[in-house]
Amino acid sequence: MQSALTQALEEARKAGASRVNEIRLRIGALSGVVPEALQFAFQALADGTLAAQGRLTIEHVPARFWCAQCAREFEAANLFSECPQCKTPSQELRAGRELELASMEID
Ligand SMILES: [Zn+2]
Repeated sequence: MQSALTQALEEARKAGASRVNEIRLRIGALSGVVPEALQFAFQALADGTLAAQGRLTIEHVPARFWCAQCAREFEAANLFSECPQCKTPSQELRAGRELELASMEID
């Protein structure tokens, strides 16, 4: 999970930033990432870099599944959920595994 942060810092450096005010990461509910751990990793990683004074903001992405029976999407908290309409077990994950850079605010 540090790679998303490392990548953000790298991009800021390439863009010629003098400092990074904010990094926004998009984290899926099923990505396995613990937000507190990510904040902690950010502090450690940002120390002594352009982002030392910056903050990490996390955008949570709920897990969404596709139900082929109903041809609709539904949100669920975990992999083993069922469609609220027809009760078919979730099979196709459409969103929820994200761990990516959403945006960044630099000076
Ligand atoms: Zn269904």
